Amino acid sequence: MVVPYKHEPFTDFTIEENKQLMLDALKQIESDLGKDYPLIIGGERITTEDKIVSVNPANKEEVVGYVSKATKELAEKAMQVADETFETWRKTDPKFRADILFRSAAIVRRRKFEFTAHLVKEGGKPWKEADADTAEAIDFLEYYGRQMLELKDGVKIESRPIEFNQYNYIPLGVGVVISPWNFLFAIMAGTTTAAMVSGNTVLLKPASTTPVIAYKLMEVLEEAGMPAGVVNYIPGPGSEVGDYLVDHPRTRFVSFTGSRDVGTRIFERAAKVQEGQKWLKRTIIEMGGKDTIVVDNEADLELAAQSIVQSAFGFSGQKCSACSRAVIHEDVYDQVKDRVAELTKELSAGDPYDNSHFMGPVIDQGAYDKISSYIEIGKKEGKLLAGGDGDDSKGWFINPTVFADVDPNARIMQEEIFGPVVALTKAKDFDEAIEIANNTDYGLTGAVITNNRTHQEQARQDFHVGNLYFNRGCTAAIVGYQPFGGFNMSGTDSKAGGPDYLIHHMQGKTTSEMF
Ligand code: NAD
Repeated sequence: MVVPYKHEPFTDFTIEENKQLMLDALKQIESDLGKDYPLIIGGERITTEDKIVSVNPANKEEVVGYVSKATKELAEKAMQVADETFETWRKTDPKFRADILFRSAAIVRRRKFEFTAHLVKEGGKPWKEADADTAEAIDFLEYYGRQMLELKDGVKIESRPIEFNQYNYIPLGVGVVISPWNFLFAIMAGTTTAAMVSGNTVLLKPASTTPVIAYKLMEVLEEAGMPAGVVNYIPGPGSEVGDYLVDHPRTRFVSFTGSRDVGTRIFERAAKVQEGQKWLKRTIIEMGGKDTIVVDNEADLELAAQSIVQSAFGFSGQKCSACSRAVIHEDVYDQVKDRVAELTKELSAGDPYDNSHFMGPVIDQGAYDKISSYIEIGKKEGKLLAGGDGDDSKGWFINPTVFADVDPNARIMQEEIFGPVVALTKAKDFDEAIEIANNTDYGLTGAVITNNRTHQEQARQDFHVGNLYFNRGCTAAIVGYQPFGGFNMSGTDSKAGGPDYLIHHMQGKTTSEMF
């Protein structure tokens, strides 16, 4: 019997003992920095000449690891291994598969500070954010293990005298899992283990900026008893390895989390039936957001300002759920705007190592340049209230930035920036606020700060986002509590951490027997 699922508690770093454990872990992992990491195909370690260099975004000179880079030939080898392994893995007892997840969760929990310290280095995450990422990875392992146990005997359907009917979910086949760098541990681990616990074999291609944590997950899964070939680790360039595997006729499904551009490209390519392909590929595609907090005139304005600032600047705004726009009722606009500016000016960006800054760096030069160019656009489209500058001499740091009086159709109100930039706009009433909140192509998260019950119910029906929150910020969904996924161009709404998630990796089979 497994105990009921409960989410992993967050670490309180104001407690001296926890602070010390974290500092020790940061020291301890120093000796790991700059190591070589091979590919893992069928349990075999394969080292290539060509490497991906993973660096600490807070200190570009510090190499986290040199990771072997898959080629098309190695991707093909991995596909063959995964395809063969599927024949045995699909028949393993679901309890055996779930146990691997439970044991993995226990291993990560035991080494929690070490993993969190690694995320500080490889992801540039402040302690609190890194701790939440580790906790979420543990949650996914615990939750999906239990979900598999719930699904293992199928779903009850009707039978008749002399007719026995059964309805079961069976796995799909080889899945290609392509993960992003922002929840480098949690999303990577969640998407991989959901696919694997439901009986599929996996080709894991992690983000090229954060491949080392994925190697560490592989070690954990192996230690927990995962047979060779079930998950294969093949980091490599998205354009080469990614395209090759998405197009491959033996790929049965693709689970992707990342940007809209890459997601739509994968969706189109996966739709093409290749020569020798016997199925229509399943796609689970979770993409970007342009998430809005709506502030009503009957609202706790301090809560509104705090929610906007926390949701906009947590992990430097590099969350798909980050608040990048706030739509504020004109009666309270000036008050909220001033308070947001004031709170933002109290924040700073700096090396997360010693936990003295609210924000760390952004992930790489590409992100730094892209966000900086949006800040320049913002300076033309709105009034700069805070931030607006950065420093990329040592790491990629951008100060938290607020623009006010922005037109709802301006570029910084419509396009995903994926950095610490928030735009504020005014609405004449609640109806107009909801209209503006819905005026993007995306539909991932949103929040409404209001004390008006009628308005809350109106938003429940009309604010078209996959995750809608009331009187709080729009980030920080918890596995099993707030299943996560978006509408429209935010993706396929597969709802990670929710009760339907595993079923996307499976297919229903009806058997009917007469006697
Ligand atoms: P990205 O699209 O650049 O990369 C994601 C993954 O796709 C990486 O592993 C990358 O190497 C790979 N890739 C790149 N080109 C590819 C190709 N042609 N074929 C196959 N794979 C390819 O995204 P990112 O910068 O890593 O992540 C940030 C984005 O992810 C943001 O848009 C964010 O909103 C989104 N995101 C969404 C969710 C969600 O649940 N909806 C969660 C986290 C992040």
